[in-house]
Amino acid sequence: MTEMTALPALLGGPAVRPEGPPAWPFPDPAVQEALQAAYADGSWGRYFGPNVEGLTAELAAYHNAGHVLLCASGTAAVELALRGVKIRAGDEVILAAYEFKANMQNILLLGATPVLVDIAAENWNLDPQQLSAAVSERTRAILVSHLHGGVVPMPALREFADHHGLVLIEDACQMPGAQVYGRRAGMWGDVGVLSFGGSKLLSAGRGGAVLTRDSAIAQRIRLYTQRGNEAYPLSELQAAVVRPQLAALDANNRRRAERVEQLCTRLRKVHGLVPFRNADSESHAGYYKLGLQYNPAAFGGLDRERFCKAMRAEGIALDPGFRSLHLTHSPSRFRAAGELRHATDADARVVVLHHPILLGSSDDVEQIVTAIEKVRSHAALLRDSAALP
Ligand SMILES: *Cc1c(COP(=O)(O)O)cnc(C)c1O
Repeated sequence: MTEMTALPALLGGPAVRPEGPPAWPFPDPAVQEALQAAYADGSWGRYFGPNVEGLTAELAAYHNAGHVLLCASGTAAVELALRGVKIRAGDEVILAAYEFKANMQNILLLGATPVLVDIAAENWNLDPQQLSAAVSERTRAILVSHLHGGVVPMPALREFADHHGLVLIEDACQMPGAQVYGRRAGMWGDVGVLSFGGSKLLSAGRGGAVLTRDSAIAQRIRLYTQRGNEAYPLSELQAAVVRPQLAALDANNRRRAERVEQLCTRLRKVHGLVPFRNADSESHAGYYKLGLQYNPAAFGGLDRERFCKAMRAEGIALDPGFRSLHLTHSPSRFRAAGELRHATDADARVVVLHHPILLGSSDDVEQIVTAIEKVRSHAALLRDSAALP
């Protein structure tokens, strides 16, 4: 029995990757060393030590950022960025309708109104063409993320923001170290944001950072977080483990990009799964997730959820993307600029490949394609068996 004729793993057959997706984070001797050093010098249990200071300086140098403020999570970092640029009740903040949910929550938390704009057809990230229709006299800021390997054309956003006197907040949580139109991801914004969450490319389990060249913004954030004690801290131990990962980030980003290129070349011949595409060939995206546009018609009408479940069963970490914000929040909580047609499409059709396999071998990439074709060859069976108890 060949791999193709074998039953799908979801229906009891042998999986393409019986070992499942690679677990993250990978074992890393440099992290182990950092942990041992933090133990040896006692910084693991102290408020202050060499690591928070060291990581702050290293991130500032890496991004040419001037000011770096470490904090408890990427979500907290977005909140601090909004506070740092003085978003207040009654203000409007523009963001894509397909976005990380907490970004909208943070805007609402401050009493401001999210204004949702549509996304671009090629990579389902914020479409700068939609901004003009979104601006009102209450608009104060644009909050934008690079999602699923999709690079947002930041020069156009920067120009638009400057022209209209808006501040730009750039969420680089999914793309640390990426080169976006000649700058590090995060540095097109008046403020940039990073996450060190447990699934992210730089991981301390939890954690985040705010980047800015603007000392007034940095000072406002410090005033908010420093209350005699630090209210949103990143610990010495967390900072210790991020430092060696930052040192390896460029090399790992290059390795992931090579695997993505290999996969995208293979996917050109795979019907019904189109990888997110970027307009600028000089930019180098980062890959926390690789976004793909799923077309159920090319898989015998197999719905996206069932397709992802079947891929998971084969040992490939492929999942549905975000829910779009306009479809999951009451219309009283936001203002929609235009029709949000692509965001409605993305809500139904994004699938994302989780990154750890992208640090694997070219054989790992081949297994992704094998699993896709295996699932396709049994699509009718998978579809019909979904209805069974
Ligand atoms: C993960 C993520 C965040 C927040 O990160 P946490 O550290 O998990 O709070 C923010 N924005 C985007 C786009 C993310 O992917």
